[in-house]
Amino acid sequence: MPPALPPADLAQQLEAALALGGRGSTAAPEAALAACLAAMKLAAQLQRPLEHGRAAELRCLHLARLGRYTEAVAAAYEALPLLQGADQQTERCAVLRTQAMAASEANAFETALAAANELVRLARDRDASTALDAAIALAACFERMGDPWQAERVLSDGLRDHGPDASTPLNLSANNCLCVIGIGMLHLLLDSQADEAELQALLLHTRAAAERARELLAQLPSPAYEAPIMGNLAEVMLHQGELAGAGALLRQALALAQQQGLQAYAWRMRISLADWHLAQAEPEHALALALGVLEEMGAHGQQQTVIRARRSAYRACRALGRFEPALQHLEVAEREELRDLTRKMRAQSELFVSRAEAQQVQWQAEDARLEAQQQRQRAAEAAASAERDPLTGLGNRRHLERRCAELLPAAGREQRPLALAQLDIDHFKSINDRCGHATGDRVLTLLAQLLQDSMRASDVVVRQGGEEFVIVMPDTDLSAATDVCERLRERVATHPWAQLGGPDWQVTVSIGLAIAAPYELAALLETADAALYRAKRGGRNRLCA
Ligand code: GH3
Ligand code: MG
Ligand code: MG
Repeated sequence: MPPALPPADLAQQLEAALALGGRGSTAAPEAALAACLAAMKLAAQLQRPLEHGRAAELRCLHLARLGRYTEAVAAAYEALPLLQGADQQTERCAVLRTQAMAASEANAFETALAAANELVRLARDRDASTALDAAIALAACFERMGDPWQAERVLSDGLRDHGPDASTPLNLSANNCLCVIGIGMLHLLLDSQADEAELQALLLHTRAAAERARELLAQLPSPAYEAPIMGNLAEVMLHQGELAGAGALLRQALALAQQQGLQAYAWRMRISLADWHLAQAEPEHALALALGVLEEMGAHGQQQTVIRARRSAYRACRALGRFEPALQHLEVAEREELRDLTRKMRAQSELFVSRAEAQQVQWQAEDARLEAQQQRQRAAEAAASAERDPLTGLGNRRHLERRCAELLPAAGREQRPLALAQLDIDHFKSINDRCGHATGDRVLTLLAQLLQDSMRASDVVVRQGGEEFVIVMPDTDLSAATDVCERLRERVATHPWAQLGGPDWQVTVSIGLAIAAPYELAALLETADAALYRAKRGGRNRLCA
């Protein structure tokens, strides 16, 4: 028996094993899986429940990545009891998602839906990323159960509601999933000779998801999804008739898949390439590719891939006038399709009881969606009202700060001119004193209206406090800003204020003007304030720059 290692060494081993089995690890899936098992053992020995749970979660992930779906589902059942702490909810969600996916792949739909259901429930109290994650899991369940339309709806809703706030990898994953579902629907529609308009709409929609996924891919450091995403985009382009672009992308995706050892994927890409040759009127090439893939796959091909390869071979043979082999390929394709259909029907009938559950999951997702929408609306309203001055309806100081944080650096980068004016009502105190506070308020409101009406939509007009206003004018140099402010001052002075306070009643303003650079709010306000002070000292109702 080896001598017992001191705990410090064990802890180091645990850390190393977790790193090897981690999501970002470059280890081969088998090695990563072994590392997870080792990490689970070490964590148990050291009584480190957090690490134990994390390793158990990663173990599920690697099993699923290796296509060992049934084992992944079982591993998830083992992992879940280890992940009950409040600080383990992220891992718990990850396990549930893996379980939902793996169980769908293994046709264990009841388990899959239960996991997705639980994920939807957890997502309610968590962030947008979890909610999107739940939508992906739910969509995967529906798609595998043979209902891609339902899957598409769940996922599109999820992306619309949670995409903007969810992480980039999840947005990527959701768009890619949408694209896969779209391609699946496309094959169904093509086989059933569907309406051309419906096909075109589906292609457009799927193309958009594929393009979006590719954009997001460029923002991520890891190229793990690169081959599938390019391949999916190429497939859509192929059906849209963009042959040149599709061919180049397909070859690139195939090379990548081969380089990364994604065998199943490389087979799919080669069949797409066969379809491409068919579209180019090169049936010999197409047939050679399809037959090559069929031979290589032998008994290891996924059913969908086999069906597609047979259909490609059928079309190629037919184009070449070789009707007997064509018929044979078609027969195999149809037999496999029938088997697939039977499997789905059986799964659905076994699921008869769970149908109600599926409906319930959907309702819950709908509830969560509405709730999230309301929450966002409330948050947006709160944010807007926090930036508004209740008396005049103009923005307040906080609004000025937020807008300037956007405007000033942008103008500064391109050295565009920008002006800031500070405006103060003259002798406002005496207006209050003579006519009352309510009339003072009325003057403030009317002046705010007048300012707003006089400025461009791109200018920022805020009430900074009391009887002081600030106006920011992007793309405005000293001479233009002087003109604008002078006209503004004049307009205030000549406004018929008499109706408010009686004959010979007047309201005037003094204005201090500052021009960038520097492109800093504090500095601009200080300069404008000093200019305003000079305007007051100089006799009021005037502009100083
Ligand atoms: P100056 O020409 O030097 O600017 O003189 P002023 O009287 O305008 O300046 P001062 O700063 O002495 O007075 C500003 C007054 O504005 C004092 C305050 O009571 C009044 N004020 C501030 N906020 C409000 C408000 O919301 N409504 C009303 N009616 N008055 C306000
Ligand atoms: Mg003042
Ligand atoms: Mg004043």
